[in-house]
Amino acid sequence: MHKLAGIELGGTKTIVVLGQPGRIDERVELPTGEPEETLAQAIGVIEGWRDDKPVDAVGIASFGPIRVARDAADFGTMLDTPKPGWLGTDVFATVADALACPVALDTDVNAAALAEHRFGAGRGCASLVYLTIGTGLGGGVLVDGEPVHGRLHPEIGHVRLRRAPGDTFAGSCAFHGDCMEGLLSGPALAARFGTHPSRIEPEDPRWKTVAQDLAELLAMLVLTLSPQRIVVGGGVSHRQPQLMPAAIARVPALLSGYLRDCSRHTLAGMIVAPELGDDAGPMGSLCLAARALEHAITAPRASLAFP
Ligand code: ZN
Repeated sequence: MHKLAGIELGGTKTIVVLGQPGRIDERVELPTGEPEETLAQAIGVIEGWRDDKPVDAVGIASFGPIRVARDAADFGTMLDTPKPGWLGTDVFATVADALACPVALDTDVNAAALAEHRFGAGRGCASLVYLTIGTGLGGGVLVDGEPVHGRLHPEIGHVRLRRAPGDTFAGSCAFHGDCMEGLLSGPALAARFGTHPSRIEPEDPRWKTVAQDLAELLAMLVLTLSPQRIVVGGGVSHRQPQLMPAAIARVPALLSGYLRDCSRHTLAGMIVAPELGDDAGPMGSLCLAARALEHAITAPRASLAFP
């Protein structure tokens, strides 16, 4: 059996794992600090697992935006991230050079989508969106089972949509104000409410506005990507269990009968919580490691990188 490792680079913490796709055997969590220090620590953890032999492949599931097209000159480099110090960090080369094995890299949400597709709430669904609503709002997309990259990768959190009637909250995204991340992320809710969202009762009418914004996002995803499943994770949806059913209930009205089979009942089966919970990202990094190895074995003269 091959020895696979994964790194989930998150905005606040980094999780380094050893295992197989679908199984985490070892896990080390580190705070995400300066890039050089954080990557060196993650590499050190993986080297520490060397015992009889080094790892065969590594998968990196990273926050972004980060270049994921493997033929790009800056493949694996961190782009305009608001995280201080990380802009321009060559995440891929740092790890690949240090560990000298096949390495694959994708966004944290695309990796989580892969894991939920193979082992979680997205089993059997080749077209899938994985949304996470927490510190930020991100979305990974699989079409025919493959992560969507395109020119960069989807940035679903930064879409602006129709605002809820009467809502004057300016939004909290540093780039766009009232994009979806600026309206729905944990920090956005804290700014909107003037207090931590956990202090707002589930019956509070202000949640209706939040549910309306989330419904717009869900309707947009249904219309643009036609996913068979939308898996919604992250702290906000987890801690506010009333939010997702309230949003789903509003989607048919937004679709105005256009997609007749998208009833509230159908949507409730289609828009679901993750089955892998917080393990979706790390498990996704192991899926990426397996893909890196598969590619290196079947196409040994090709680049070691496989997104
Ligand atoms: Zn934004």
